[in-house]
Amino acid sequence: MDPLRVLFISAEAVPFVKVGGLADVAGSLPKALRALQEAPDVRLAVPLYGQINRKGLDLELVADFTIPHDYGPMPTRVYLTQVDDLPVYLMEGPPINPRDPIYSHDARENGAKFTFFSLAALELPRYIDWQPHVLHAHDWHTAPAVYCVASNRKGEDDYYDQLATLLTVHNLPFLGVGAGPSMGAFGLEAASGSPLPDWAEHMPLPLGLLTADHINAVSPGYAAEMLTPEFSSNLHDFLASRKDTLSGILNGLDVERWDPAIDAALHKNFDEDSLNDRTENKLSLQSELSFGANTRIPLLAIISRMDHQKGIDIALQGLKQIADKPWRAVILGTGAPHIEDEARQLSRDFPDKVRVIVDFDRALARRIYAGSDALLIPSRYEPCGLTQMIAMRYGSVPIARATGGLKDTIIDHDADEVEGNGFLFDEATPEALVDAIGRAMDVFHDQRRWRAIQRHGMKRDFSWGKSAGEYYNLYKSLVERKK
Ligand code: ADP
Repeated sequence: MDPLRVLFISAEAVPFVKVGGLADVAGSLPKALRALQEAPDVRLAVPLYGQINRKGLDLELVADFTIPHDYGPMPTRVYLTQVDDLPVYLMEGPPINPRDPIYSHDARENGAKFTFFSLAALELPRYIDWQPHVLHAHDWHTAPAVYCVASNRKGEDDYYDQLATLLTVHNLPFLGVGAGPSMGAFGLEAASGSPLPDWAEHMPLPLGLLTADHINAVSPGYAAEMLTPEFSSNLHDFLASRKDTLSGILNGLDVERWDPAIDAALHKNFDEDSLNDRTENKLSLQSELSFGANTRIPLLAIISRMDHQKGIDIALQGLKQIADKPWRAVILGTGAPHIEDEARQLSRDFPDKVRVIVDFDRALARRIYAGSDALLIPSRYEPCGLTQMIAMRYGSVPIARATGGLKDTIIDHDADEVEGNGFLFDEATPEALVDAIGRAMDVFHDQRRWRAIQRHGMKRDFSWGKSAGEYYNLYKSLVERKK
């Protein structure tokens, strides 16, 4: 039998371009799907941004066509490259301006870029003689493709009728505000009289949520939270109407890319049976950060986008409240300038305790996962979160807010000493975080118990295997439903 064919479209994908966890997922899930016993033919499309280094990529021009637009047809060029055995299509055209940032502050610029990319990726299969069974889109950037499929069904062209659509939500509040006029210019009109609230009828993500054959969130916990007023971005009434076609599949981790036993960025490799070697990473990280050598003072870490979502402000205030206690902290992140400034201020206020690196530094992130004792993740919401999984795999114990995917992956030590792999707190407040840090530090001073927590995290299977199987079953059921 022919394999199932899946067109996977994403605004980011490792190893080409990464801003957040979406890139990790788009880089690793297609590979995991192709590694399944009944392997689907998954192919990935991403924009060919100026930030992608073309040198070293073996690019083959495979398609050259136009996309209709109010100002005239938009030329599109598509280059094929391979990542291991995964075919990747890099899409080029005027709205993907090589000088623009990946995500601009200009909503119209983003709207034009991602609507163009979505529609071009959707057209691509016609030019490479490859009819996908499933279009798998991610977040608002590629939701226009889902909406376009639905808008063109039952017309003259049966291409769209043959295509099942899946929209994965990695971050609900990013609705694609301001992209409506750009979608209109590409021929995608706003909905009207739909179950969506009026204000959402011209926004890409709501339109994708309205019309996808199935919606999934990146963790079961977040799928449930999306239906509640607190987390739904005011879409709970509408989402309730889609409850039966909404599910959650936990993200996996690329456990080959994230493996402390072979990670070349580390001072010394280690695994759960050689935690003494891990200590050398702590010492080397301390020296890199100009902290004096001391293995007994806990080294807390944050590795995060500096965004309101991530609750960095909660962590900064919490750390201030316990400034008289023995701890050190390293904060690595970039994002909102006011949060970056607040973090820098904390390092000025506590120069002996706090280091702040405002940068996106993948190698340093790895050394921090391997050398810190605990990772603070005080997110206000967290659709899945990868940092807690990476931290656990590298023996850094997560201290995290019990929300979304964090709750699905972290078992609180005090609730379950046999399997506990971290510490959870409920309220998004500095006080609740401080309480959890206090509980963690009590255990930290008993190294035997601390190591047990580290081992529980390190032993846990975070690989894609199970979740890739769930995606495959979902694809199959969507195709069956079409028949
Ligand atoms: P999100 O996608 O919301 O940003 P995730 O936890 O899903 O959050 O994924 C974040 C990813 O980005 C992780 O791989 C993390 O290590 C990485 N990361 C975040 N900030 C930085 C940074 N400043 N430098 C290096 N890597 C970072």
